Amino acid sequence: MADRSFLSWPFFETRHRELAEALDAWCAAHLHVDHADTDEACRTLVRDLGQAGWLRHSGAGEGETLDVRSLCLIRETLARHDGLADFAFAMQGLGMGAVSLFGTAEQRTWLERTRAGTAISAFALTEPGSGSDVANSTAAAEAVPGGFILTGEKTYISNGGIANLYVVFARTGEASGAKGLSAFLLPADTPGLEIVERIEVIAPHPLAHLRFNSIRLPETALIGKCGDGFKIAMSVLDVFRSTVGAAALGFARRALDEALARVRQRQLFGAPLSELQMVQGHIADMALEVDASALLIYRAAWTKDMGAARVSREAAMAKLHATEAAQRVIDTALQLHGGDGVRKGFAVESLYREIRALRIYEGASDVQKIVIARAALGEAR
Ligand SMILES: Cc1cc2nc3c(=O)[nH]c(=O)nc-3n(C[C@H](O)[C@H](O)[C@H](O)COP(=O)(O)OP(=O)(O)OC[C@H]3O[C@@H](n4cnc5c(N)ncnc54)[C@H](O)[C@@H]3O)c2cc1C
Repeated sequence: MADRSFLSWPFFETRHRELAEALDAWCAAHLHVDHADTDEACRTLVRDLGQAGWLRHSGAGEGETLDVRSLCLIRETLARHDGLADFAFAMQGLGMGAVSLFGTAEQRTWLERTRAGTAISAFALTEPGSGSDVANSTAAAEAVPGGFILTGEKTYISNGGIANLYVVFARTGEASGAKGLSAFLLPADTPGLEIVERIEVIAPHPLAHLRFNSIRLPETALIGKCGDGFKIAMSVLDVFRSTVGAAALGFARRALDEALARVRQRQLFGAPLSELQMVQGHIADMALEVDASALLIYRAAWTKDMGAARVSREAAMAKLHATEAAQRVIDTALQLHGGDGVRKGFAVESLYREIRALRIYEGASDVQKIVIARAALGEAR
């Protein structure tokens, strides 16, 4: 049983504690994911999470705001139970983040579907030539009478191939670099959208390379104003970056649980492995990493929920520390399992694969360091 003492920290209200406990119980009772077919598993997870009401938290309806503490608690809990369940929840939130924050009433009708689990969403920012370097994006939306013509490519798009709706960032040319981007809604059945390639990664998730073959978009597809795309993307990441840290925290808690169970049960040299002091040293390091990550994540989430306009520094610290620390915790847990650690069917083996991409997407660790350093240098000035 994972440590629950953090729920008594002052970052949370009673509703958060109830949410975490209720979701944990729901996962234990209902979350039995068949991973044989990744696409099908994701569709089923979105449907089930929607029907059970958990996806209501993934977006903000009219007059509501996104509650980052709830998003983090849900991701942490789901990740502790099943990485794909966390992915299915997270992408409904990230995919529709731009609509939650900036969508019109008409665009919000999509949000009702993603929150009910009847539509799947995706967030399409990365291109073959621009991942970390968003300002170098080349996919373009040319203004024409009545709308736009979308051309270009996006890659590494989660839910690519199974999404019903893509939020696409494309160049509209108001300025050079990041300031000349805009955000658009692209329903998956729009003529001209091509799934060029499905991408396979070490921890299977639906992922694709997309091509836009002169796609005709109506004016109503534009989210916010022309030229606001980068601001919109950064506002979405400002909310969801801490939640990547929360997912990593869920993986780390699971790894710590697995390690604790293993070292208590495994007999070596005539006693449980847990009695060796060097093993206790590893356990102490893991427990410390988990709590430090949790403190940074819920500090960032609480700060945002209290109305801070931007939490770039706090969210970058939370994501950077939690993802890097989770990698270390999982590696140690795997080591404590000996040969079984690398064996399929053992939780630490899949956690070892699951954690890796979190140190890359939504801003690689090096990019988070730049955000933190710029904030520190700015404060010093
Ligand atoms: C599993 C997975 C899911 C993804 N899902 C999505 C999605 O849904 N939507 C989407 O738009 N994108 C998605 N991505 C793409 C992801 O956001 C990019 O991979 C990420 O931003 C890094 O971009 P890149 O791969 O082009 O690497 P590059 O930009 O080429 O960077 C390579 C490496 O260089 C280093 N680096 C980069 N910039 C700096 C710097 N300024 N200083 C020092 N070092 C630096 C980092 O170590 C980085 O990992 C996903 C990626 C993966 C792996």
